[in-house]
Amino acid sequence: MQKANAPKEFNLREICTTFVCLPRVLRLIWDASPSLVMGMAFIMLLQGVTPLATVIIARLLIDGALQGIMYGTIQPIVLPVILQLVVNLINRFCMRLHATLQILLNHRLSDHMTLLILRKASTLDLTFFENAEFYDRLTRARQEVINKPLLLIVQLFSLGSSLVTTIVMLGLLFQLSWWLALVALVVPIPSFLADSRYGLRNYWRALWQSPRKRQQLYIVDLLTTDTYNKEIKQFNLTHFFTERYHVLSDQMYQEDKQLQAKHICISLLWSLLPMLASAGLYFYVAFQAIQRRISLGALTQYTIAINEVSRNCQGMLDSLSEIYEYHLFINTLFDFLAYEPQIVAPAHPAHLEIPVGTEGLDIEFHNVSFTYPGKSEPVLKNISFTLHAGESVALVGQNGVGKTTLVKLLTRLYNPDEGEILIGGCNIKEYDPHELREQIGVIFQDYVKYHMTAGENIGIGRVTEIENHTLVDSAARKSGADRIIARLDKGYDAMLGRRFEQGVDLSGGEWQKLALARAFMRDTPILILDEPTSALDAQAEYDIFQSFRHLTAGRTVIFVSHRFSTVRLADRIFVIERGHIIESGSHQELLDLRGKYTELFNLQAEAYR
Ligand code: ADP
Repeated sequence: MQKANAPKEFNLREICTTFVCLPRVLRLIWDASPSLVMGMAFIMLLQGVTPLATVIIARLLIDGALQGIMYGTIQPIVLPVILQLVVNLINRFCMRLHATLQILLNHRLSDHMTLLILRKASTLDLTFFENAEFYDRLTRARQEVINKPLLLIVQLFSLGSSLVTTIVMLGLLFQLSWWLALVALVVPIPSFLADSRYGLRNYWRALWQSPRKRQQLYIVDLLTTDTYNKEIKQFNLTHFFTERYHVLSDQMYQEDKQLQAKHICISLLWSLLPMLASAGLYFYVAFQAIQRRISLGALTQYTIAINEVSRNCQGMLDSLSEIYEYHLFINTLFDFLAYEPQIVAPAHPAHLEIPVGTEGLDIEFHNVSFTYPGKSEPVLKNISFTLHAGESVALVGQNGVGKTTLVKLLTRLYNPDEGEILIGGCNIKEYDPHELREQIGVIFQDYVKYHMTAGENIGIGRVTEIENHTLVDSAARKSGADRIIARLDKGYDAMLGRRFEQGVDLSGGEWQKLALARAFMRDTPILILDEPTSALDAQAEYDIFQSFRHLTAGRTVIFVSHRFSTVRLADRIFVIERGHIIESGSHQELLDLRGKYTELFNLQAEAYR
């Protein structure tokens, strides 16, 4: 739990600083749809002045009725009745239109915010996604903030509308007495202050509960996602996880209940004051009527006006405290948008285009060291080597020695802490990371199984060519995925994975062949395959590596593998241990060395005997 986020106390200065950021929120809402925002603003203004018309019509009606009684005619009440009908029609129309515009704006705004979050997230480095605090902000931005801008703008317009009503009603009351207007204006303020304090607590409570909400989301994911379902059933974990979910829910429910109970007591207490004040004002106005200082119509007008001022002042203050609360939530989004990636293109990036073949560019690691954030022990220590263009190198070593990390450094998913990585003699930091990644075809050990069609699963390896069926088919043939696709009813159009309609699941090895085809889509001068055949059967692996030399001819290839039948095909093999390359050479050279490689090789050969 985030102890740093202990609830803060309400303070006026903090409210003011929060409101300074309001223009940024408005900009965000405006960008989603200027026309819808303008439409809503206009309706709100119109709704602000209609109460004035109602009050004046009520006065005309009552005074007209009295005249009618006196002269025995209905003529004086005809006009007020027609006017009230028109006002009601306008009011009704405005309400319907407002509801419709709100639905449309909600649509636009949540799309706009989601895209903003997705676009920002896509620019950020991998390290951010491995940091719990960042994840917390991202989840809160996605889940708690999405609906807040709409709620904020609705409250802002409601505030504007109440302000207009209050001003016109105060104008009416002012005609009778200035102090009447003043009392009606100031009485709701204490209740507002009490509500704002609650709004702040509400926000801090949500912040405080956020890590637990994330745990709940994770449990929901575990219990509802096909990939986890097998194991959950096998280990009978449903009760264990639902119970854990329930405990978290219950804790948060009790916290909410306490806060709501406190709020309702305080709010009721403070709302007594405006009620008493209104009663006093009513008495004063009625007394004026008894004294024949004002007509019965005017009495009605003033009592409605008192009621409207008090209702709208309270409404305005409620809107202010809600705007404040929503604004606190929206700040989470701005905190998230303020993250800046570390791995970015330099101002003037060097151009990178690597030709295929021996005239390609060498890859050099110079004294490269790297420690994962939050860890004390480096994964890679002072690693140096040169990969010549067109060479194939296998990385060998036990699990967790840093083989994948080395690959991640080369693709600039991380920056080395020390040393440098050069391609063609130039530090890779000098290149635009996008351009660098365009030159490298990678399939990671934990490749993605896209729940999309078979063709798309391969095509996204080079997204600009996703519709190029000849290329997709040729990539599929290289990895052997074409035979899997031929067995599917809809071929390349077959939906894969169980998440969407008519989706078919594949075996681990079949998915891996598709991922391999994805890497072949690119036809890049550098190819990195991190355990590319771990899920394939012996026959499939044999088939792929039979054609491997041909498939990778002229390309620089780095592959990580635990199978020595594959490893031996490499021009050079690096044996990695405790962050260092302890042996390097061809298969035969390393066997002759009778070192770690020979030990690992014999261990595996032993298992097959
Ligand atoms: P290999 O590919 O050789 O199996 P890795 O390069 O994946 O090993 O990992 C090397 C070490 O770094 C392991 O001890 C692993 O636990 C650790 N490690 C890998 N990824 C991360 C990460 N994102 N954050 C912290 N430690 C990590």
